[in-house]
Amino acid sequence: MSTSETSRPSAGAANNDDGKEDPSFVRWRETLSSFLTPRPLTAHETAAKEAKNIEAATQQEERENARCERWKKKLLQSSPMVKFMMDNLEKAGCPFREDHFRCTPCEVTRAGGFAPDYGIILCQNSFLSKKHMEDTMTHELIHAYDQCTTKVDWNNCEHYACSAIRAASLSGDCKFTRELRRGFFSVAKHHQACVKRRAIAELKQLPQCQEERVAEDAVRVVWDSCFKDTAPFDEIP
Ligand SMILES: [Zn+2]
Repeated sequence: MSTSETSRPSAGAANNDDGKEDPSFVRWRETLSSFLTPRPLTAHETAAKEAKNIEAATQQEERENARCERWKKKLLQSSPMVKFMMDNLEKAGCPFREDHFRCTPCEVTRAGGFAPDYGIILCQNSFLSKKHMEDTMTHELIHAYDQCTTKVDWNNCEHYACSAIRAASLSGDCKFTRELRRGFFSVAKHHQACVKRRAIAELKQLPQCQEERVAEDAVRVVWDSCFKDTAPFDEIP
């Protein structure tokens, strides 16, 4: 063994020449680990922490609800898409009012929902932006329009598929593909693929359409007639 090797620090920089750990290093490491490993909380601390979490969650929920209500008002006044759908619902004999939209917390996988007897649910904790909320309102208003103008049986996967296709296609859910217009020649295909994917995903949330291939088949069966039905729009907006 050469001199240079014995003088070089070993891997841990804490071993004595006999290979035993230096006691001061062990003490130092233990102190450090006691800082890094949190001690268990006392019952009192746990309760205090939970109360704080609940308070923070409540505050967040209130903030999200206020934002949702604010955006809702704004979009009802100024969004051409939302206003167009509201006007057409009224013309079709099913006027929709501001209080038919309910801002509420939901599972984060959803942005909204339409319940024929209830109205439209806006998932206040899911919106990434006002534009996202605008697309969601338009999407749900298309379901409301279908409910008003056709006899939709929402328990029937093919009926639901038709409305889901129209809602995804006409609402702006798939509009990002427009931005590809300059770079891609097959934009129509991108749009269709997006609509198909979203309609299938929406159907799969229903217990009755969850079985193997049921959602895919329903979308395929009604695709041609429902994709080209752009009412109340003249064409895909
Ligand atoms: Zn939908």
